[in-house]
Order: sequence, then structure tokens, then C-alpha cells
Amino acid sequence: TDRLLQKSEKLALLGQMAAGIAHEIRNPLTSIKGFIQLLKSNDLKEEYFDIIFSELERINSIVGEFLVLAKPSASIFVEQDVKVLIKDVVTLINTQSILNNVQIFVEFDSDLPMVSCERNQLKQVFLNLLKNSIEAMPKGGSIDVKVKEKEEGKISIQIIDQGVGIPKERIPTLGEPFYTTKEKGTGLGLMTCFKIIESHNGKLTIQSKLNEGTTIEIILPTITQSLLKMDRVR
Ligand code: ADP
Ligand code: MG
Repeated sequence: TDRLLQKSEKLALLGQMAAGIAHEIRNPLTSIKGFIQLLKSNDLKEEYFDIIFSELERINSIVGEFLVLAKPSASIFVEQDVKVLIKDVVTLINTQSILNNVQIFVEFDSDLPMVSCERNQLKQVFLNLLKNSIEAMPKGGSIDVKVKEKEEGKISIQIIDQGVGIPKERIPTLGEPFYTTKEKGTGLGLMTCFKIIESHNGKLTIQSKLNEGTTIEIILPTITQSLLKMDRVR
């Protein structure tokens, strides 16, 4: 019965998510429909085109975020050095950070233990978090990424920004889908991060102060810790 209950809970959650997605996608679709009708009868074509284009982009990013979550069925966990993943992601986001006057500093413990992870998913987490930090500093600034062995069997990854911060009362609700303060946001990035870190038996915590900045910490079990856990399950 335990498993059945879990399954019905999952289905209920899925239903809620589906309703949320349908709603979020219907808004831009309605807007696209309206502007296409206007295009037919009006000479403000270029402006309408821009709106249609950005609404399509919005639908695309909503669907894209959900695809990341839909993938775990095919996920492969491998032994990985987080250092390498973080360096890859920092390179990937380099142009965006330069354009926004943001510098990213990365600091590693030497001799970091390996973790067991789904590479692309973990990269997605770092990408979403770094993006949020960049977007939180409209006037530029710096982001510190610190990776260390927190205690035996645990790796800590901190992403520290000097951005706008998050109101105290909002912090406990972060990770709920579709909460965004951005005009072009989807409000799905953090939810995706929470889900992925959870599926890695890790933990994601958020500390923030308005107008001072935000620190996100991810704790991941090291590979030996993950193997021990698997042993116990068996
Ligand atoms: P999105 O980035 O599309 O808005 P997210 O799920 O990534 O969606 O983030 C949800 C909201 O949480 C953001 O709109 C923002 O208000 C807040 N937030 C997340 N990360 C940060 C951060 N580093 N600094 C300030 N606010 C943040
Ligand atoms: Mg985001």
C-alpha cells in the first residue's frame, strides 16, 4: 500500500503540474493568435512580429525546462569530477556574464573526491543557478563559486552573488513552479534544480538578503558515500 499511495500522490502532483503548464502555455498562445489576426489587417507588422517571436520563445523555454525533468528515465549516473562540470558551465555562460558585466570566480579544494551523477542534469543545475545570479545583478558584479569537501562523504558547492536578493517570506516557497519576478522568466529553473539535486540524494539550500545577495549551497554525496548507500538498499 505504501507504494500505491506514493503512486497516487505522484499522479496528483503530475495533474497539478499539467494544469500549470497548460495555463502557462495558453497565455502566450492566446497572445500569438491575437497578433497573427492583427498582422492580417494592419501595418504595424514588425512590432507584432517581435511580440509573436518572443511569445514563441517563451513557450519554447517552458517546454525545454520540462524536457530536462522528463529525461531522468534514461539517465546514466557516472563517476565524475564536479570541478570539470563547473568549468564547462562557466565557459558556456561566459559570453552572457561578460555582456552583463559579471565576473565569475571559481575556487576549489585540492583533492576533491568524485561524485556519482548524471552529467547533463548537474550541468543544467549549475547553468540555471549561475543564470539566476547573473540576472540578479543588472548592474554587474561578481559571483563566487566555492567547491569543497564539507565533511567526510559530502561535497559542498556554493554559488554566491551580490544581487538584488530574495524577500525572506519568499525563500521557503522557492522551487514551486511558475514563480518568477522576471518579464521573460519561466519560474521553472529552481524547481528543476531542486528535483535534480533530490534525485542525486543531495540537498539544495538558499540563503538571501534583500539588496545584499544570495548564496545557494548544494550538498552532494561523494561517490564512496553513494556506493555505501546502494549497498544498504541491496
Ligand atoms: P526564472 O529565473 O525563470 O524567474 P527561477 O525558478 O530560476 O525562474 O527563479 C525563480 C525566482 O526566484 C526568480 O524570478 C527570482 O525572483 C528568484 N531568484 C532565483 N535566484 C535568485 C538569485 N540568485 N537572486 C535573486 N533572486 C533570485
Ligand atoms: Mg532562472
